Amino acid sequence: MEREQLEVDVLFVGAGPASLAAALHLSRLVRDHNQSVERGSSGRKLQDLTLLVIEKGKDIGAHALSGAVVDPRGFRELLQGFPGEEPPYDAAVHDDALYWMTRNEAIRSPLTPLPLRNHGYFVASLGKLVRWMAQLCEKNGIEVYPEFPAVELLYEEKVVKGVRIGDKGRDKNAAPKSNFEPGIDVLSRVTVLGEGPRGTLAKQASRKLNLEGGRPPQIYSIGVKEIWQSSKPVRPGIVYHTLGYPLAKGEFGGAFIYTMQENLIDVGCVVGLDSPNPRTDCHLLLQKLKTHPFVRSMLEGGKLLSYGAKAVPEGGYYAMPQLYSDGLLIVGDSAGFLNAQRLKGIHLAIKSGMLAAETIFDALLKNDFSAQTLQGYSQRFEKSWAREELWKVRNFRQAFQRGFWSGMFHGAVQLVTHGRGLKDPFPIAAGHACMEPLQKWSADHSETINFDGQYTFDKLTDVYYSNTAHEEDQPCHLKILDFDICHHRCTFEYGNPCQYFCPANVYEMVGEEGKKRLQLNFTNCVHCKTCDIMDPYQIIIWTPPEGGGGPDYKNM
Ligand code: SF4
Repeated sequence: MEREQLEVDVLFVGAGPASLAAALHLSRLVRDHNQSVERGSSGRKLQDLTLLVIEKGKDIGAHALSGAVVDPRGFRELLQGFPGEEPPYDAAVHDDALYWMTRNEAIRSPLTPLPLRNHGYFVASLGKLVRWMAQLCEKNGIEVYPEFPAVELLYEEKVVKGVRIGDKGRDKNAAPKSNFEPGIDVLSRVTVLGEGPRGTLAKQASRKLNLEGGRPPQIYSIGVKEIWQSSKPVRPGIVYHTLGYPLAKGEFGGAFIYTMQENLIDVGCVVGLDSPNPRTDCHLLLQKLKTHPFVRSMLEGGKLLSYGAKAVPEGGYYAMPQLYSDGLLIVGDSAGFLNAQRLKGIHLAIKSGMLAAETIFDALLKNDFSAQTLQGYSQRFEKSWAREELWKVRNFRQAFQRGFWSGMFHGAVQLVTHGRGLKDPFPIAAGHACMEPLQKWSADHSETINFDGQYTFDKLTDVYYSNTAHEEDQPCHLKILDFDICHHRCTFEYGNPCQYFCPANVYEMVGEEGKKRLQLNFTNCVHCKTCDIMDPYQIIIWTPPEGGGGPDYKNM
């Protein structure tokens, strides 16, 4: 098939904070360099460069979701090159606390642990932040294209040469429809992957180029979040984290409640995708959380505005892949730039983008995009504050894989040994390998709840509040490698956990008892990537659907 080609100098895949920061910082370095050459410095000007950011969502920010409490360090550094620009934070944090929750009580910790102290930080909507960053990119001559899903990397031998964009206008059997348009090939001198957690291209590259090369596996949690309009005046800038209820035995995680301007309340749960319980259901846990008297009192009389979910890469320093290859760099969540102990990644994503930009700038001057030059990104990271921050918590999340109390004990030892702890690196397994057979959990009588439609909702209702839409007549973007495993082995061994771990009711077992078949309601998918991560047989492959499909988050 003839495909149109578009040639650019630098391609950034995914319009999240890491890619946008990389594009902005690179534009600044090029601008400053050219001005200095004009003033008489030695060297040649870098002229007519095309920097392009592509995004699979309908608009910039449509797929952006985070807590979010932002450590401003990343933005402060980035914006030194853009005087007068201020990020659209929502509110400065003025109160933060940690609560221990039982079924009916919420006990405030007399001291907020250091990693959860947020004074000097800002509550924000990641969607608003990236929309603002994208506008700043455009003001600085960077092109930003939404509805451009990158589906595969293009190679010459093992050198990355760009990406292929997904086709538009194929029917459910992949046959071209009357509006068919083949996806174009975007060719670039260097491709920067900032696709977010469990990036499709980053996963392909890791396999082909062996970027994980013997490193411990990345481990994830899933974050599910709702935004509520409060019925009462709410002071913005309150940040509460909770432990305990509604999480059950063996589940790692907690909950968060943040207040924003216009009397908005963010309420969410984060749950480990290495849970041994095949019935772990993060959506249900969030609904249970809202039945707790402490949380209910805040939501009383309010109404639900938005819902969303996203995986969170928590493995930290040891789980990061090799960050570069010939023609390729990986930034942000795709590379694991997230501090799980502080529950923060935006400042690290921005820093990773800036370090990548400095390396690309060198490569442009040398006109050399080989791994030899691009490894400068890794070297810069090793000397940066981002590495220092991640090194101190290098074993934090790993220790919780053996349970909450093990995590607390090892966490305390790590604190006094600057992250080393009793085992360094602390051994871990990939999340999907931690799931235990259903039989072991047959005695699990975790409380279920009836959804009242006022404070608690079923998955389909919540998906409605995520504004998710996909063209229905297109190939299903969830590739199941072997349905036989789903219908027989998995039903017996794990009880089809996809029905529980998917927060959007995409996976449904339908039909008579004993002959149930898996139905994929793919148009509900909120692109959280949980199925790709947690499926115990690793036979679910998440791929990008037609451009523009997915959630349309407004203020997540
Ligand atoms: Fe998330 Fe997979 Fe469900 Fe989509 S299908 S919402 S990626 S778990």
